[in-house]
Amino acid sequence: MTRAILTLNSGSSSLKLGLFTESLEMLAMGHVDRIGRREAAMKLTGSNGAPLPLPETAPDAFATNAAALKTALAAFRADFEQLEIVAVGHRVVHGGINHAAPEEVTPALIKDLARLAPFAPLHQPHNLAGIRAAIDAFPGVPQIACYDTAFHRGHPFVSDVYALPRAYYDKGVRRYGFHGLSYDYIESALARSEPDLHAGRVVVAHLGSGASICALKGGKSIASSLGFSALDGLPMGTRSGELDPGVVLYLMDQEGMGAAEISDLLYKKSGLLGLSGISNDMRTLEASEDPHAAQAIAYFAFRIKREIGAMAAALGGLDGIVFCGGIGENSARLRAEVCTDMAWLGIDLDAEANAQNAREIGADRVRVLVIPTNEEIIIARAARKVLCL
Ligand code: ADP
Repeated sequence: MTRAILTLNSGSSSLKLGLFTESLEMLAMGHVDRIGRREAAMKLTGSNGAPLPLPETAPDAFATNAAALKTALAAFRADFEQLEIVAVGHRVVHGGINHAAPEEVTPALIKDLARLAPFAPLHQPHNLAGIRAAIDAFPGVPQIACYDTAFHRGHPFVSDVYALPRAYYDKGVRRYGFHGLSYDYIESALARSEPDLHAGRVVVAHLGSGASICALKGGKSIASSLGFSALDGLPMGTRSGELDPGVVLYLMDQEGMGAAEISDLLYKKSGLLGLSGISNDMRTLEASEDPHAAQAIAYFAFRIKREIGAMAAALGGLDGIVFCGGIGENSARLRAEVCTDMAWLGIDLDAEANAQNAREIGADRVRVLVIPTNEEIIIARAARKVLCL
């Protein structure tokens, strides 16, 4: 039997799985999308990226997250009968103040992480459900929690705080920052292949359905555009990004909206979807001729550009930018819009390299790189380290 590590990233409507050998060779990836909807679908790919055969599935196979996980695991099991799962690593969006490194899941830890659910109500409960489902599916197998907030826990005070009375900071109302597993991967990729740049000042733009920017100084995160919740900073597929808190007060006072309704508005109906009125999906917006689609893309690019400028100020200069995430890795148009008129900062794009999604796309002093991120291998690596495999 080959010993293997399974990774799980359980979101609100999607599920990503990774299967690795103990020496961290990727064996397979799985992705279930649109859980709970009729169009729910599963994709499995092997180590060479080629699709793996999918089993017949029951009509309710993807009706809930637990059902989707069961279905995906059964599919993996059918394809990898000879594997023994020796660890399951989990993406957990919120580790709060106290959880700054990957660790083995215990009943006490689950309770502690459940207490953080109000800080990330749309993500944390799904992450914990994934952990509980994996404990049921693999009894006795160690489960490792890996936190999206952990990479940012070393932020200086000014990047960690809001200017509210201190009591709120003490209660945990802080800037946590997220997408830490992705930034961890980019940091390690830079350390390995671009040591000079790694030692310098780098802005990483993780642009997917969720989007944020992180400032790396010598490989350490010193600031993030995401703050207390997954709503801050850049606009995202369906999330508003940074908003004047006065807007929320207005919605409550004048529109009579309650917390649940505002939450739904800001998390699910805003961002690219809200502005375009068409879609939260960048590919759909790029293909659309509707001027509202172009405006939504322009707003997204403008906010990224502003955030890069702000991070350059936080870093005291800029040596490189890394684009990653589904949009960062694939959208030449978005990268071009972001980098237009940035010569003042030493940023210029090589248009041809950009069009080809090449790894190196900068043509001026600031290096501009496209590096596909890999949160799954960071989780597998962490599981191996925690368990000394
Ligand atoms: P998630 O946060 O769900 O992991 P991804 O990192 O997969 O999200 O990013 C999803 C986004 O990437 C979507 O908006 C999708 O349209 C966009 N995207 C993927 N491929 C392309 C492409 N070729 N061109 C433009 N956008 C793309």
